[in-house]
Amino acid sequence: MMAVTILLGTACTRGPGTEVSTEQETPAPIAAPPTPLFDPDSAYAYVAGQVAFGPRVPGSDAHKECGNWIVARMKNYGADVREQIGEVTAFNGQEVPLRNIIASWLPDAQQRVMLCAHWDSRPFADHDKERPNDPIDGANDGASGVGILMELARHLNELTRPASGTAPGIGVDLIFFDVEDMGEPANAMGGKDNSMDTWCLGSQYWVKQPHEPGYSARFGILLDMCGARDAVFYQEAISMRYASGVVRKVWRTADRLGYGDRFIPETKYFVGTDDHDVINRSLRIPTIDIIEYYEPTGGFNPTWHTHGDNMDVIDPNTLKAVGQTIMEVVWKER
Ligand SMILES: [Zn+2]
Repeated sequence: MMAVTILLGTACTRGPGTEVSTEQETPAPIAAPPTPLFDPDSAYAYVAGQVAFGPRVPGSDAHKECGNWIVARMKNYGADVREQIGEVTAFNGQEVPLRNIIASWLPDAQQRVMLCAHWDSRPFADHDKERPNDPIDGANDGASGVGILMELARHLNELTRPASGTAPGIGVDLIFFDVEDMGEPANAMGGKDNSMDTWCLGSQYWVKQPHEPGYSARFGILLDMCGARDAVFYQEAISMRYASGVVRKVWRTADRLGYGDRFIPETKYFVGTDDHDVINRSLRIPTIDIIEYYEPTGGFNPTWHTHGDNMDVIDPNTLKAVGQTIMEVVWKER
């Protein structure tokens, strides 16, 4: 859906024979462009589109084709797209190709906001009793966050190249991290103390050599597992430690939009590590993680790292609550 355009200024239409006013036009105040409506069906289609490629396991054809699709969509939505192509070593010694995708709007703007998600999916189902060695769909774990960012991207030109009468927004970077989810299974034999470092290989790669040397942003928001039916979001502890102000801003915004039943202003410690942890520790960009907290497990959704993480768990209402909130935060940033 397109944003409603607000016409500003004192210009008036003059009918024939109307007396011309001698009054001087006062300069119009510069307004922020209105926040567009986040379309949950569109976001859902972007999640389904990724899953339709097949599991996005780094090195696979599905992974390559899905990456090409994301890049093409971002260019279509007016982004300046850069890709980081590299190679990283997985916990089992396997050399894995890596492709981080960075889509930027107003790439030269000093003031920036960074939004991110991981676009790879886990190569095995180590929390499933059935077919534990087969790759999962990763509809929630991976594709949901990317789908929300893709729907947001559809509107970013309206923010950064607005209609006349509205102020240009700040620069926005969407970062699609690769190889987040190839971490060492917790029950693996010979597990090491540094097994935390086997996760988030794409963001680890990026913080060592950002797409722009010296890259920084006002703040960052990571979306991970943001699509499950009835999902609720507590204030995740690592985010609170490094970026409590950003957490509060996002949770307050959600409440104002009527999503207070989804965004609970209470801290829960349940994430071992995630891409935001890497970014906070290395680049010191205050970055939060919006990630589902599932009360009965005291942690992740029971479909996590199982074959149950498929399109059946995805609910457009959840994508809407997260997507509209993020959009409002970004659009109000001046
Ligand atoms: Zn995962």
